[in-house]
Amino acid sequence: MERCRIVHPTNPLEQLDDGLAVFFRGPRSFTTEDVVELHLHSGRAIISSVLGALSQLSYCRPAEAGEFTRRAFLGGRMDLTQVEGLKDLINAETEGQRRIALRAAGGTARAQFDELRTGIIGCLANVEALIDFGEGEDIEEGVYDQARSRAQALLCTIEKHLNDDRRGEIIRSGVRLAIFGPPNAGKSSLLNFLAQREAAIVTPVPGTTRDILELSLDIGGLPVIVADTAGLRKTDDVVESIGIERAKNAVRGADVSLCVLALPDVLPSPSGNMDASSLHIPEEMAELITQDTMFLLNKSDLSSTHTCTAALALSYSQGHTAWAASLGTGEGTGAFLAGFARALHHRFNLRDGEAEQEREVPLITHARHRVHLESARRFLQAFLDTPACDVVLGAEELRYAAQAVGKISGLIDVEHVLDAVFRDFCIGK
Ligand code: GDP
Ligand code: ZN
Repeated sequence: MERCRIVHPTNPLEQLDDGLAVFFRGPRSFTTEDVVELHLHSGRAIISSVLGALSQLSYCRPAEAGEFTRRAFLGGRMDLTQVEGLKDLINAETEGQRRIALRAAGGTARAQFDELRTGIIGCLANVEALIDFGEGEDIEEGVYDQARSRAQALLCTIEKHLNDDRRGEIIRSGVRLAIFGPPNAGKSSLLNFLAQREAAIVTPVPGTTRDILELSLDIGGLPVIVADTAGLRKTDDVVESIGIERAKNAVRGADVSLCVLALPDVLPSPSGNMDASSLHIPEEMAELITQDTMFLLNKSDLSSTHTCTAALALSYSQGHTAWAASLGTGEGTGAFLAGFARALHHRFNLRDGEAEQEREVPLITHARHRVHLESARRFLQAFLDTPACDVVLGAEELRYAAQAVGKISGLIDVEHVLDAVFRDFCIGK
């Protein structure tokens, strides 16, 4: 590292800045190549004059998005799970996301996948020895059985990782939550309450939220992508009915849905008696309500405590998780938020806050990993199902299993995956 005058490359008398130059000799640099870093004063004029001067050199050009990371990958400094981890780390918004990304970027996932792959290749070596020499000659008896029991153990490990309730993917990419309900029930008020800011337009005019509004929020440490949807009702308005169709699709495509109803509108009888056996839920809602749908009975300020309690009891008796609250006055909203966060954690088999942090971090954090690990599992199973007399076939299955795991790290045919992974990087990372 050297403090130096930064001068124009073709006209050394023209000083551009007074800065630092740092030289990293390959292969110990980030990209594994020789790298020079110029540390400049951050003024816009300085940066553009230095970039302008550099661009006059025929061998200089600005880096493409993700190019530094791509070079690090091609130089073997990082594998694909580390590249993904780095990208996730840059984008991390919750504590859980930061932790799983840091772990992946640091190479822990890489080491685990490498171990699996090495294990499979070990089995393959056993089986290939059998093919080359034949059992009972140079190779001791039972080599095939030995390979089988190793493969069986690897299969168990892979299955353990696959049966993780998608925890890693949920923590990394978030739960998709759809808020739905009739117009004017308080859906946008709920989104604003969750976001703690005025994100959606809250108005007394029914049908204001005509399209879908999405926000990415942190609910009790869990990333949640919340969609506020158009109010569901019968309508002749063309634009509104498109919004309603989209709302229905958003609910169907969500991981979790929360139906918001205004208490006074759903009481079974106009007098507010809770003698009927169910809440009055408009028929537009019925097709979207499943056993998993949760309810927020809003506007509790307009009903008596007794009525709220009875309405809740009714929802529970029908197997639904429900809360009564008033987003207008704030009454019951604290209990709702705490309960809702708990319900989400429960649904995805996650623990709250620190308890989750004490658990083993899931290995699979991207759908891509799951796809390849599932195919590795199938090939290992196929190997186990192959009789010893078909040893050549068995070796083939093992080779495919090792390749499938190799694809996760990016060791095998990855061009298209690379393009997809590096495309989302910012310029110069
Ligand atoms: P959306 O159409 O379901 O999105 O409903 P909004 O959130 O836009 O709310 C509709 C109207 O109900 C607005 O005038 C809100 O101020 C009002 N509102 C929302 N929550 C409450 C509540 O808890 N109590 C009362 N009294 N009014 C509420
Ligand atoms: Zn709305």
